[in-house]
Amino acid sequence: MTGIDDLPVRDELRGKTPYGAPQLDVPVRLNTNENPYPLPAALVERIAERVREAARGLNRYPDRDAVELRTELAAYLTKTGKYPVGTENVWAANGSNEVIQQLLQTFGGPGRTAIGFEPSYSMHALIARGTGTAWISGPRNDDFTIGLAAAERAIAENRPDVVFITTPNNPTGNAVPPETVLALYEAAQAAKPSMVVIDEAYIEFSHGDSLLPLLEGRPNLVVSRTMSKAFGAAGLRLGYLAAHPAVVDAVQLVRLPYHLSAVTQATALAALEHTDTLLGYVEQLKAERDRLVVELRAAGYEVTESDANFVQFGRFADAHAAWRKILDRGVLVRDNGVPGWLRVSAGTPEENDAFLDAVREMKKEQSA
Ligand SMILES: *Cc1c(COP(=O)(O)O)cnc(C)c1O
Repeated sequence: MTGIDDLPVRDELRGKTPYGAPQLDVPVRLNTNENPYPLPAALVERIAERVREAARGLNRYPDRDAVELRTELAAYLTKTGKYPVGTENVWAANGSNEVIQQLLQTFGGPGRTAIGFEPSYSMHALIARGTGTAWISGPRNDDFTIGLAAAERAIAENRPDVVFITTPNNPTGNAVPPETVLALYEAAQAAKPSMVVIDEAYIEFSHGDSLLPLLEGRPNLVVSRTMSKAFGAAGLRLGYLAAHPAVVDAVQLVRLPYHLSAVTQATALAALEHTDTLLGYVEQLKAERDRLVVELRAAGYEVTESDANFVQFGRFADAHAAWRKILDRGVLVRDNGVPGWLRVSAGTPEENDAFLDAVREMKKEQSA
Protein backbone atom coordinates (compact mmCIF):
# COMPACT_ATOMS: atom_id res chain seq x y z
CA MET A 1 0.00 0.00 0.00
CA THR A 2 1.38 3.35 -1.02
CA GLY A 3 1.25 5.95 1.74
CA ILE A 4 2.09 9.64 1.91
CA ASP A 5 5.67 8.92 2.88
CA ASP A 6 6.20 6.84 -0.25
CA LEU A 7 5.51 9.94 -2.34
CA PRO A 8 8.10 12.65 -2.93
CA VAL A 9 6.31 15.11 -0.62
CA ARG A 10 8.21 18.06 0.86
CA ASP A 11 10.34 17.13 3.85
CA GLU A 12 8.54 19.52 6.20
CA LEU A 13 5.22 17.77 5.50
CA ARG A 14 6.46 14.25 6.30
CA GLY A 15 4.84 12.62 9.34
CA LYS A 16 2.44 15.54 9.85
CA THR A 17 -1.33 15.32 10.32
CA PRO A 18 -3.87 17.61 8.61
CA TYR A 19 -6.16 20.04 10.47
CA GLY A 20 -8.98 17.92 11.80
CA ALA A 21 -11.60 18.93 14.31
CA PRO A 22 -13.67 15.73 14.65
CA GLN A 23 -16.97 16.05 12.73
CA LEU A 24 -18.94 13.54 14.81
CA ASP A 25 -22.66 12.97 14.55
CA VAL A 26 -23.81 13.69 18.12
CA PRO A 27 -26.93 15.53 19.36
CA VAL A 28 -25.12 18.62 20.68
CA ARG A 29 -22.10 19.88 18.73
CA LEU A 30 -20.29 22.70 20.48
CA ASN A 31 -16.78 22.15 19.15
CA THR A 32 -16.04 24.48 16.22
CA ASN A 33 -17.31 27.91 17.33
CA GLU A 34 -19.99 27.99 14.69
CA ASN A 35 -23.14 30.03 15.12
CA PRO A 36 -25.83 27.51 16.22
CA TYR A 37 -28.66 29.38 14.52
CA PRO A 38 -29.51 28.53 10.91
CA LEU A 39 -29.76 31.57 8.64
CA PRO A 40 -33.15 33.36 8.89
CA ALA A 41 -35.69 32.50 6.18
CA ALA A 42 -35.68 36.01 4.66
CA LEU A 43 -31.92 35.83 4.19
CA VAL A 44 -32.12 32.34 2.68
CA GLU A 45 -34.62 33.79 0.17
CA ARG A 46 -32.35 36.73 -0.61
CA ILE A 47 -29.37 34.42 -1.12
CA ALA A 48 -31.43 32.32 -3.54
CA GLU A 49 -32.39 35.48 -5.46
CA ARG A 50 -28.88 36.83 -5.72
CA VAL A 51 -27.42 33.45 -6.58
CA ARG A 52 -30.07 32.96 -9.29
CA GLU A 53 -28.98 36.28 -10.78
CA ALA A 54 -25.32 35.30 -10.56
CA ALA A 55 -26.07 31.90 -12.10
CA ARG A 56 -27.09 33.51 -15.36
CA GLY A 57 -23.61 34.97 -15.66
CA LEU A 58 -21.63 31.86 -14.67
CA ASN A 59 -20.39 31.47 -18.25
CA ARG A 60 -18.13 34.44 -17.42
CA TYR A 61 -15.36 34.67 -14.82
CA PRO A 62 -16.41 36.59 -11.68
CA ASP A 63 -15.29 40.11 -10.80
CA ARG A 64 -11.65 39.38 -10.09
CA ASP A 65 -11.38 42.30 -7.69
CA ALA A 66 -14.75 41.69 -5.96
CA VAL A 67 -15.30 45.45 -5.87
CA GLU A 68 -18.99 45.47 -4.89
CA LEU A 69 -18.38 43.00 -2.07
CA ARG A 70 -15.30 44.86 -0.79
CA THR A 71 -17.31 48.09 -0.82
CA GLU A 72 -20.06 46.54 1.32
CA LEU A 73 -17.51 44.98 3.69
CA ALA A 74 -15.85 48.40 4.02
CA ALA A 75 -19.24 49.93 4.85
CA TYR A 76 -19.83 47.25 7.51
CA LEU A 77 -16.40 47.90 9.07
CA THR A 78 -16.93 51.65 9.03
CA LYS A 79 -20.32 51.27 10.69
CA THR A 80 -19.20 48.88 13.42
CA GLY A 81 -15.47 49.56 13.81
CA LYS A 82 -15.44 53.26 14.69
CA TYR A 83 -12.93 53.87 11.89
CA PRO A 84 -13.51 54.88 8.27
CA VAL A 85 -12.57 52.04 5.91
CA GLY A 86 -12.76 52.32 2.11
CA THR A 87 -12.99 49.73 -0.65
CA GLU A 88 -9.26 50.19 -1.29
CA ASN A 89 -8.52 49.13 2.31
CA VAL A 90 -10.37 45.80 2.05
CA TRP A 91 -9.48 42.47 0.49
CA ALA A 92 -11.62 39.31 0.54
CA ALA A 93 -10.94 35.60 0.04
CA ASN A 94 -12.35 32.13 0.70
CA GLY A 95 -12.37 32.27 4.49
CA SER A 96 -9.88 34.19 6.57
CA ASN A 97 -7.71 31.09 6.29
CA GLU A 98 -7.15 32.01 2.66
CA VAL A 99 -6.54 35.64 3.64
CA ILE A 100 -3.87 34.40 6.05
CA GLN A 101 -2.40 32.13 3.39
CA GLN A 102 -2.16 35.01 0.95
CA LEU A 103 -0.52 37.18 3.62
CA LEU A 104 2.06 34.48 4.33
CA GLN A 105 2.68 33.89 0.62
CA THR A 106 3.28 37.62 0.26
CA PHE A 107 5.19 38.48 3.42
CA GLY A 108 6.45 35.07 4.62
CA GLY A 109 7.70 32.13 2.57
CA PRO A 110 11.02 30.25 2.36
CA GLY A 111 13.78 31.89 4.38
CA ARG A 112 11.27 33.95 6.35
CA THR A 113 9.67 33.46 9.76
CA ALA A 114 6.33 34.07 11.46
CA ILE A 115 5.51 34.12 15.17
CA GLY A 116 2.32 33.62 17.18
CA PHE A 117 1.77 33.55 20.94
CA GLU A 118 0.57 30.09 21.87
CA PRO A 119 -1.74 28.47 22.66
CA SER A 120 -3.49 30.25 19.82
CA TYR A 121 -5.18 29.52 16.52
CA SER A 122 -3.45 26.38 15.23
CA MET A 123 -4.04 27.27 11.58
CA HIS A 124 -1.51 30.11 11.74
CA ALA A 125 1.28 27.59 12.26
CA LEU A 126 -0.19 25.13 9.74
CA ILE A 127 -0.52 27.76 7.01
CA ALA A 128 3.01 28.94 7.79
CA ARG A 129 4.23 25.39 7.20
CA GLY A 130 2.23 25.11 3.98
CA THR A 131 3.78 28.31 2.65
CA GLY A 132 7.33 27.33 3.65
CA THR A 133 7.45 29.97 6.40
CA ALA A 134 9.40 28.99 9.53
CA TRP A 135 7.14 29.08 12.59
CA ILE A 136 8.11 30.37 16.01
CA SER A 137 5.93 29.58 19.00
CA GLY A 138 5.94 32.71 21.15
CA PRO A 139 5.14 32.56 24.88
CA ARG A 140 2.02 33.26 26.94
CA ASN A 141 1.65 33.50 30.71
CA ASP A 142 0.10 30.61 32.68
CA ASP A 143 -3.19 32.54 32.73
CA PHE A 144 -3.02 32.77 28.89
CA THR A 145 -2.42 36.52 28.80
CA ILE A 146 0.51 37.77 26.71
CA GLY A 147 3.39 38.85 28.95
CA LEU A 148 4.74 41.95 27.24
CA ALA A 149 8.39 41.62 28.27
CA ALA A 150 8.63 37.97 27.21
CA ALA A 151 6.79 38.61 23.94
CA GLU A 152 8.98 41.61 23.12
CA ARG A 153 12.05 39.51 23.84
CA ALA A 154 10.81 36.76 21.49
CA ILE A 155 10.32 39.33 18.74
CA ALA A 156 13.71 40.98 19.30
CA GLU A 157 15.51 37.62 19.30
CA ASN A 158 13.75 36.08 16.29
CA ARG A 159 13.13 39.18 14.16
CA PRO A 160 10.04 37.61 12.52
CA ASP A 161 8.69 38.80 9.17
CA VAL A 162 5.08 38.24 10.25
CA VAL A 163 3.60 38.57 13.75
CA PHE A 164 0.16 37.10 14.53
CA ILE A 165 -1.89 38.50 17.40
CA THR A 166 -5.25 36.79 17.82
CA THR A 167 -7.68 38.88 19.82
CA PRO A 168 -10.00 37.64 21.17
CA ASN A 169 -7.72 34.61 21.22
CA ASN A 170 -8.74 31.11 20.18
CA PRO A 171 -8.86 28.65 21.99
CA THR A 172 -8.42 30.56 25.26
CA GLY A 173 -11.10 33.24 24.65
CA ASN A 174 -9.34 36.22 26.23
CA ALA A 175 -8.70 39.50 24.41
CA VAL A 176 -5.30 41.21 24.16
CA PRO A 177 -5.30 44.79 25.53
CA PRO A 178 -4.79 47.42 22.78
CA GLU A 179 -1.68 48.76 24.59
CA THR A 180 -0.08 45.32 24.30
CA VAL A 181 -0.90 45.09 20.60
CA LEU A 182 0.62 48.53 20.04
CA ALA A 183 3.77 47.68 22.00
CA LEU A 184 4.18 44.46 20.00
CA TYR A 185 3.75 46.39 16.75
CA GLU A 186 6.49 48.79 17.85
CA ALA A 187 8.74 45.91 18.91
CA ALA A 188 8.20 44.18 15.57
CA GLN A 189 9.04 47.31 13.58
CA ALA A 190 12.14 47.92 15.72
CA ALA A 191 13.40 44.38 15.15
CA LYS A 192 12.81 44.40 11.39
CA PRO A 193 10.14 45.97 9.19
CA SER A 194 7.53 43.24 9.54
CA MET A 195 3.81 42.73 9.07
CA VAL A 196 1.62 42.47 12.16
CA VAL A 197 -1.63 40.61 11.62
CA ILE A 198 -4.41 41.09 14.17
CA ASP A 199 -6.78 38.14 13.79
CA GLU A 200 -10.18 39.51 14.84
CA ALA A 201 -12.26 36.45 13.89
CA TYR A 202 -14.28 36.83 17.12
CA ILE A 203 -14.32 40.60 17.57
CA GLU A 204 -18.11 40.94 17.22
CA PHE A 205 -18.47 38.88 20.43
CA SER A 206 -16.03 41.02 22.41
CA HIS A 207 -16.84 43.28 25.36
CA GLY A 208 -14.33 45.69 23.81
CA ASP A 209 -13.92 47.46 20.48
CA SER A 210 -12.22 46.44 17.26
CA LEU A 211 -8.60 47.49 16.86
CA LEU A 212 -9.33 48.90 13.38
CA PRO A 213 -8.45 52.47 14.51
CA LEU A 214 -4.85 51.28 15.02
CA LEU A 215 -4.57 51.09 11.21
CA GLU A 216 -4.19 54.88 11.16
CA GLY A 217 -0.60 55.64 10.15
CA ARG A 218 0.49 51.97 10.41
CA PRO A 219 0.91 50.52 6.91
CA ASN A 220 2.45 47.31 8.28
CA LEU A 221 -0.67 46.43 10.27
CA VAL A 222 -3.43 44.13 9.01
CA VAL A 223 -6.78 43.35 10.66
CA SER A 224 -8.22 40.01 9.53
CA ARG A 225 -11.93 39.20 9.81
CA THR A 226 -14.36 36.44 8.86
CA MET A 227 -18.04 35.87 8.17
CA SER A 228 -17.71 32.35 9.63
CA LYS A 229 -18.48 33.28 13.23
CA ALA A 230 -20.55 36.42 13.88
CA PHE A 231 -22.35 36.23 10.53
CA GLY A 232 -23.19 32.58 11.15
CA ALA A 233 -21.90 31.72 7.70
CA ALA A 234 -19.09 29.21 8.21
CA GLY A 235 -20.32 27.28 5.18
CA LEU A 236 -19.99 30.34 2.96
CA ARG A 237 -16.19 30.59 3.24
CA LEU A 238 -15.70 34.32 3.28
CA GLY A 239 -12.88 36.08 5.08
CA TYR A 240 -11.49 39.56 4.60
CA LEU A 241 -8.85 41.98 5.77
CA ALA A 242 -8.57 45.70 6.35
CA ALA A 243 -5.22 47.41 5.85
CA HIS A 244 -3.36 50.13 3.98
CA PRO A 245 -4.18 50.01 0.24
CA ALA A 246 -0.57 48.97 -0.45
CA VAL A 247 -1.21 45.71 1.46
CA VAL A 248 -4.27 45.08 -0.73
CA ASP A 249 -2.09 45.65 -3.81
CA ALA A 250 0.59 43.32 -2.44
CA VAL A 251 -1.64 40.30 -1.79
CA GLN A 252 -2.89 40.50 -5.36
CA LEU A 253 0.58 39.35 -6.42
CA VAL A 254 -0.17 35.89 -5.01
CA ARG A 255 -3.94 35.47 -5.20
CA LEU A 256 -5.20 33.04 -7.82
CA PRO A 257 -7.05 34.82 -10.60
CA TYR A 258 -10.83 34.75 -10.00
CA HIS A 259 -10.29 33.11 -6.59
CA LEU A 260 -13.66 34.28 -5.24
CA SER A 261 -16.53 32.68 -7.17
CA ALA A 262 -19.50 34.71 -8.38
CA VAL A 263 -21.72 32.49 -6.18
CA THR A 264 -19.64 33.28 -3.11
CA GLN A 265 -19.68 37.00 -3.85
CA ALA A 266 -23.46 36.99 -4.40
CA THR A 267 -24.09 35.03 -1.19
CA ALA A 268 -21.85 37.26 0.91
CA LEU A 269 -23.55 40.38 -0.47
CA ALA A 270 -26.94 38.94 0.48
CA ALA A 271 -25.70 38.21 4.01
CA LEU A 272 -24.37 41.77 4.35
CA GLU A 273 -27.86 43.09 3.56
CA HIS A 274 -29.02 41.29 6.73
CA THR A 275 -26.27 42.48 9.03
CA ASP A 276 -28.68 43.84 11.65
CA THR A 277 -30.55 40.53 12.04
CA LEU A 278 -27.31 38.56 12.17
CA LEU A 279 -25.79 40.87 14.77
CA GLY A 280 -28.96 40.31 16.81
CA TYR A 281 -27.96 36.65 17.13
CA VAL A 282 -24.54 37.82 18.26
CA GLU A 283 -26.15 39.60 21.23
CA GLN A 284 -27.99 36.41 22.22
CA LEU A 285 -24.79 34.39 21.93
CA LYS A 286 -22.86 36.89 24.04
CA ALA A 287 -25.49 36.55 26.77
CA GLU A 288 -25.24 32.75 26.54
CA ARG A 289 -21.44 32.95 26.63
CA ASP A 290 -21.62 35.03 29.81
CA ARG A 291 -24.09 32.52 31.28
CA LEU A 292 -21.71 29.64 30.51
CA VAL A 293 -18.91 31.47 32.36
CA VAL A 294 -21.07 32.03 35.44
CA GLU A 295 -22.57 28.52 35.50
CA LEU A 296 -19.26 26.77 34.91
CA ARG A 297 -17.70 28.67 37.79
CA ALA A 298 -20.70 27.88 39.99
CA ALA A 299 -20.22 24.21 39.11
CA GLY A 300 -16.64 24.39 40.39
CA TYR A 301 -14.70 24.76 37.14
CA GLU A 302 -11.99 27.27 36.33
CA VAL A 303 -12.83 29.49 33.37
CA THR A 304 -10.66 31.80 31.29
CA GLU A 305 -12.16 35.29 30.73
CA SER A 306 -13.94 35.15 27.37
CA ASP A 307 -14.51 37.83 24.73
CA ALA A 308 -15.43 35.23 22.13
CA ASN A 309 -18.37 32.92 21.35
CA PHE A 310 -16.75 30.10 23.31
CA VAL A 311 -15.37 29.44 26.76
CA GLN A 312 -12.21 27.65 27.87
CA PHE A 313 -12.77 25.64 31.05
CA GLY A 314 -10.76 23.29 33.29
CA ARG A 315 -8.77 22.20 34.94
CA PHE A 316 -8.54 18.52 34.27
CA ALA A 317 -5.82 16.10 35.23
CA ASP A 318 -6.61 14.45 31.89
CA ALA A 319 -8.43 16.81 29.52
CA HIS A 320 -8.90 14.17 26.86
CA ALA A 321 -10.56 11.76 29.30
CA ALA A 322 -12.91 14.58 30.36
CA TRP A 323 -13.65 15.34 26.67
CA ARG A 324 -14.61 11.69 26.22
CA LYS A 325 -16.89 11.70 29.29
CA ILE A 326 -18.74 14.77 27.99
CA LEU A 327 -19.03 13.12 24.57
CA ASP A 328 -20.49 9.99 26.22
CA ARG A 329 -23.29 12.32 27.43
CA GLY A 330 -24.02 13.38 23.85
CA VAL A 331 -22.14 16.68 23.86
CA LEU A 332 -19.15 17.34 21.61
CA VAL A 333 -16.72 19.98 22.91
CA ARG A 334 -13.15 20.66 21.76
CA ASP A 335 -9.89 19.31 23.04
CA ASN A 336 -7.40 21.74 21.56
CA GLY A 337 -4.46 20.02 23.20
CA VAL A 338 -4.04 22.72 25.85
CA PRO A 339 -3.04 20.60 28.86
CA GLY A 340 -5.79 20.69 31.51
CA TRP A 341 -8.32 22.64 29.48
CA LEU A 342 -11.25 22.13 27.09
CA ARG A 343 -13.23 24.59 24.98
CA VAL A 344 -16.99 24.82 24.52
CA SER A 345 -18.74 26.98 21.91
CA ALA A 346 -21.82 28.94 22.99
CA GLY A 347 -24.82 27.22 21.43
CA THR A 348 -28.55 27.70 21.75
CA PRO A 349 -29.87 27.92 25.35
CA GLU A 350 -31.04 24.28 25.07
CA GLU A 351 -27.65 23.08 23.82
CA ASN A 352 -25.88 24.99 26.57
CA ASP A 353 -28.21 23.46 29.18
CA ALA A 354 -27.37 20.00 27.88
CA PHE A 355 -23.67 20.84 28.12
CA LEU A 356 -24.01 22.27 31.64
CA ASP A 357 -25.94 19.18 32.79
CA ALA A 358 -23.17 16.98 31.41
CA VAL A 359 -20.33 18.81 33.15
CA ARG A 360 -22.26 19.10 36.44
CA GLU A 361 -22.81 15.32 36.40
CA MET A 362 -19.16 14.80 35.63
CA LYS A 363 -18.20 16.94 38.62
CA LYS A 364 -20.53 14.94 40.92
CA GLU A 365 -19.02 11.68 39.70
CA GLN A 366 -15.52 12.97 40.48
CA SER A 367 -16.37 13.97 44.01
CA ALA A 368 -18.42 10.80 44.64
C1 LIG B 1 -12.50 30.38 13.02
C2 LIG B 1 -11.28 31.25 12.94
C3 LIG B 1 -10.94 31.84 11.74
C4 LIG B 1 -11.88 31.69 10.61
O1 LIG B 1 -11.43 31.00 9.56
P1 LIG B 1 -12.35 31.01 8.26
O2 LIG B 1 -11.39 30.47 7.26
O3 LIG B 1 -12.73 32.43 7.97
O4 LIG B 1 -13.53 30.14 8.51
C5 LIG B 1 -9.84 32.66 11.70
N1 LIG B 1 -9.10 32.90 12.80
C6 LIG B 1 -9.40 32.36 13.98
C7 LIG B 1 -8.62 32.70 15.17
C8 LIG B 1 -10.50 31.50 14.07
O5 LIG B 1 -10.80 30.91 15.24
